[in-house]
Amino acid sequence: MTNSNFAELGLGNELLNALHKENYESPTPIQSQAIPPLLEGRDLLGVAQTGTGKTAAFVLPILQRLSAKPTKAVSRRPQALILAPTRELAIQIGEAVATYGQNLHLRHAVIFGGVGQGPQIQKSVRGVHVLVATPGRLLDLVRNGHIYLDKLETLVLDEADRMLDMGFIHDIRKIIALLPEKRQSVLLSATMPRDIERLARNLLSDPIKVEISPKAVTVERIEQFVYFPNSVDKFSLMLTVLEDKALSRVIVFTRTKHRANRVAEVLTKNDVTAEAIHGNKSQGARQKALKNFRDGKTRVLVATDIAARGIDIDGISHVINFELPNEPESYVHRIGRTARAGTEGVAISFCAPDERPYLRDIENLIKRPLVDAEHRPFMATIPKKPKTGQRGAGNTSRKPKRHAGKHRGAASQGGGKSFDPAKPRPRPARRRRSAVAA
Ligand code: AMP
Repeated sequence: MTNSNFAELGLGNELLNALHKENYESPTPIQSQAIPPLLEGRDLLGVAQTGTGKTAAFVLPILQRLSAKPTKAVSRRPQALILAPTRELAIQIGEAVATYGQNLHLRHAVIFGGVGQGPQIQKSVRGVHVLVATPGRLLDLVRNGHIYLDKLETLVLDEADRMLDMGFIHDIRKIIALLPEKRQSVLLSATMPRDIERLARNLLSDPIKVEISPKAVTVERIEQFVYFPNSVDKFSLMLTVLEDKALSRVIVFTRTKHRANRVAEVLTKNDVTAEAIHGNKSQGARQKALKNFRDGKTRVLVATDIAARGIDIDGISHVINFELPNEPESYVHRIGRTARAGTEGVAISFCAPDERPYLRDIENLIKRPLVDAEHRPFMATIPKKPKTGQRGAGNTSRKPKRHAGKHRGAASQGGGKSFDPAKPRPRPARRRRSAVAA
């Protein structure tokens, strides 16, 4: 059986059957807008973040175009190259290629750093149609003559803004210089800062522009709350918040690797299963942590922004921003981990007094204030659609000390669906508090 909506976009039966098997009922907005021009061979500039279905939007046309003119994979010379900033994202894109291409006879490989080159070289030598790669390892293999990009037909730069953040701009320029003039190019980015615009101008020729606003994608479907603890109170607030079992699969975000480790350590000490992922962890450790989280063996995944980009895990019930990001766009990325593919989710932010400017930037970007959890203990009374303007006098009423004091009361009461404001719950157990202080 095939899916008529996807069929209308011009996809062939092999792809339609794979999508049907994946229970994709209809294309997402970026898929409807991007697939037809990409099938025609046009260049594309996509402003979209993870969670919009962007991966299928570029993978499906690549597979369709390759399968339409079946050629054997050529040793060391891929026909399509998808560049991703992180290993996790590269692996996920590789999985998408395998899933959507399950009925096609196309070969693909995923290459990234931090692991041995041997198996990656072997695959390239055998020949692949589609290569998914992180920039650094790709250049290593190019330099050593294991990969040539002179026959490339399609290039995709995924999460271009994150690539630039991670310092890959020189690598990307070097890679672009190796490509044939005549090719199809696709650039996807969650945000469009100046240097991405410049890169897009150099890379793309007469591109179609598709913009999926993050506001429509996430912000409106996600309940967003903020607490105002002092930095030192954040640990006990987090533990109290996690007493609610409704927080079944949670990502906690921190700004630094060190803090991610510390948060995971405190959670583990307090009998909350948790693991941290960040750039200092080995590839194996990151994969294992992700698998444990996916399988439900760990309840909490603690992550830095970069490590979490591109992670695609279903059923994340809550995102906790243990620390607010200093770039407001990262907030949108973070909370986009919950409420994926049409489901609803909850984001809870902890804003220490020195993070107020970050909160202001976030609220300006998403064009609405976060709901003050103090005034609406979220676990008991989450409204289906939180009303805006819950804070009354607004930001000016946020006096650090007053809030820091009050949140403890609210937090120590909050928890469980049977929350009754008249019956405060006991304060967290002594054992926990001493572990937190440790
Ligand atoms: P992405 O934005 O590419 O990271 O995709 C986000 C999630 O949405 C992934 O889990 C995809 O499998 C899923 N997805 C993509 N397109 C569709 C669709 N048309 N229908 C349902 N789920 C989809």
